[in-house]
Amino acid sequence: MPYKKDTYSTLYYKEPGPKLDKESPFESMMERFRFAAELLKLDDGTFQYLSNPVKQVTVSIPVEMDDGRLEVFEGYRVIHDNVLGPSKGGLRFAPDVNIDEVKALASWMTWKCAVVNVPFGGAKGGVRCNPRELSPRELERLTRRFTASMLEVFGPDEDIPAPDMGTNEHTMAWIMDTYSMHSRKTVTAVVTGKPPIIGGSLGRREATGRGVVTVTLAAMSKLGISPVNAKVVVQGFGNVGSVSAKLMYEQGARVIGVSDVSGGYFNAEGIDIPAAIEYAAQNRFSLEGFTGAAPISNEELLELECDVLIPAAKEDQISRVNAPNIKAKIISEGANGPITANADAILEEKGVLVIPDILANAGGVTVSYFEWVQDRQGYFWTEERVNRRLNRMMRNAFQLIFDVKEEYNITLRQAAYVYAIKKVADTLKLRGIYA
Ligand code: GLU
Repeated sequence: MPYKKDTYSTLYYKEPGPKLDKESPFESMMERFRFAAELLKLDDGTFQYLSNPVKQVTVSIPVEMDDGRLEVFEGYRVIHDNVLGPSKGGLRFAPDVNIDEVKALASWMTWKCAVVNVPFGGAKGGVRCNPRELSPRELERLTRRFTASMLEVFGPDEDIPAPDMGTNEHTMAWIMDTYSMHSRKTVTAVVTGKPPIIGGSLGRREATGRGVVTVTLAAMSKLGISPVNAKVVVQGFGNVGSVSAKLMYEQGARVIGVSDVSGGYFNAEGIDIPAAIEYAAQNRFSLEGFTGAAPISNEELLELECDVLIPAAKEDQISRVNAPNIKAKIISEGANGPITANADAILEEKGVLVIPDILANAGGVTVSYFEWVQDRQGYFWTEERVNRRLNRMMRNAFQLIFDVKEEYNITLRQAAYVYAIKKVADTLKLRGIYA
C-alpha cells in the first residue's frame, strides 16, 4: 500500500522540540530513522535499542609536540550497533569533530553496512585536532597513543577502524602496528584501508568513488540519462570527489564544476579531470590556482544547472536555505550527511532523485569488508576481482533499495532506511536480548 504523507505523526518523538534549524547531524539521522521506524511499525523497545549507541568512549590523548610541549587532545569511538557483526567505521581527525557528530556517523555506518549486506555493525571514531597543523611525527604519536587507549575497543572480531576525513592509509598502518605490538603478533585485520603492502586491499582507496559512480550510473539509467555528455558537478576533490569526477569523466560525462577548500571551479565545456588531479597532486592536494576552469564560489557550484551533483565534501552542505535553488536532476551523496533532514522534503518536491549516503558511498566499507576477508584468509585478490565484486554489490544494493522505494512509494533515502532498519531489527529479534 502506498505510504500516505499525512500519516507522519510524532508518535516516536520522545522529546518533541522546535523544528531544527541548524541541524545536529545526530538529529538529522534521527529524523530519517523515526520516519522509517514508524513506517515499519517498529515496537517501542526496538526503537529505543536502535536509537542508542551500544558504547561511547571518550579519551584524553597526551602528545609530546616537536617543540617539547605537552598537548592533550580529545578522542572518541562510538559503537552504535554490533547486531550484524563486529562494528566497522572510519576514524576522523578534524578540529571540529565532537561526540554528537561521531554518534551520527556511527549510526550511519550501521545502516550503511545493512544496505550493502556486509556482516558488520556500525561505529565511528574521531580525534579533535587539525591534522594539517601537525607534523608527521606528531600525527604518529597521536595515532599510536589513541590506539593504545582503544586496545579494549578495537579488534578484528570486535571493532575495526578505517580511514575517514583527515586520516589515510598511513594512519591505518600506525594503528595496525600499535595494536600488533600489544598483541605480540601481526594483526592485519584490526583495521582496513591499509597500504596494500601490509595487508591492504587493492582498489580500497578508490572504492568509495567507484561505488558512487556505479550507483549514479544505475540511477541515470532509471531516468533515461546517458552518461555521455551528461553535466556533472562534484563538490570536494579529496579521495571520494576526485575519483568520482575521474570515473564520470571516463564515462564521457562533462564535469562542469569541481571544488575543494580553495573554492569552486567552473568550465561549461567540461573540466579536464586528469589534468586537475595532476595539478592538485603537484600543489599539496589543492586546486588553488588551477587555470583549466573559472573560479566560482562553493554556493554557486552547488546551484549549477546539471544532471548529476555529487556532494563529496562534508556534512550540511544542502539545507533548507539553498535546497530550493538546486538544479540537479540527481544528487549522489559521496559524503556522509551532506543534505540536512530539513532539505529532504524540498528536494523531493522538486523531483530531485537523491541517492542517499548510506547507499551512495557504501563502496568504501564494501571493499573494507573485502580487505578484512582477505586479511583473515591470508589470500589477496587482484584489483580486477575487487572492482568486479564491488560493482556487483553496489548494483544489487541499488536495485534492492529502488524496489523498496517503488513498493512503498517513498524516496530512495527513506527506502534505504526502511531496508536497513528492518534488517537490523529482524536480526535483533532472532538473536534475542541476552539477560
Ligand atoms: N569512513 C568510510 C565511511 O564513512 C569507510 C568506513 C569503513 O571502511 O569502515 O563509509
